[in-house]
Order: sequence, then structure tokens, then C-alpha cells
Amino acid sequence: MIKQLLEGVIGQDEILRYYNATLTYIEMPSSIRGCVHYYKGIYDILINKNLSYYKRKKTLLHEFAHIELNQLCQTNNDLFAFYIDKYEDEANRYIKELKNTHIKNEGSEGYV
Ligand SMILES: [Zn+2]
Repeated sequence: MIKQLLEGVIGQDEILRYYNATLTYIEMPSSIRGCVHYYKGIYDILINKNLSYYKRKKTLLHEFAHIELNQLCQTNNDLFAFYIDKYEDEANRYIKELKNTHIKNEGSEGYV
């Protein structure tokens, strides 16, 4: 789905609906860009509201990657803390790969 978002086939609202996700911009320490929680079938995406437009988009994509890569069902598992760096890398690499593919095609709405 992120691929379709980058290609402009679907919009942000559509991807949020597709994942059953909510998006909220909140006050956060500047060291945190965003996070996503999974609870009872709903993904809660929280983004630091002090980020620039560009960084908000980038963070949102990153959080979508966690959802798309199924990295959230283990949030309450002790193992998760151990794997968190690995997941961060995977999420970032995933977005990077999608963008590399995309750049060869066409423009998008500020996500790249
Ligand atoms: Zn992350």
C-alpha cells in the first residue's frame, strides 16, 4: 500500500482507512519523531506536531512501514525491545527501496 501512496494511486486518508489507522499530531520531545501503537485492531499513529511538513510526511511513511511489515503485534512482548533497532532499520530500508523504485517512474505528492 505504501507503494501505491508513493505513486499517488491512493491518498493518505485511503491508506489510513485501509490499515484501520488513526493519525494524531501531538506534543512530543524533539528526540521522538513519531510512533505507532496497535491495540484491539486499530493502529494509533502519533506524530510529533513540531516537525516540519517534510519530516511529518517522512515519519508517517516510516510508521506505515512498521504496519506494512507487521512489526507491531509484538509490542508487548519482551523480545520487542531487543529487536527494535532491527525493526527501525528494516522500516527505513523498506521506504528507501520503495522510493528508489518510484523515482524511476513519476512524481508524487511530497512523499519522496
Ligand atoms: Zn520506527
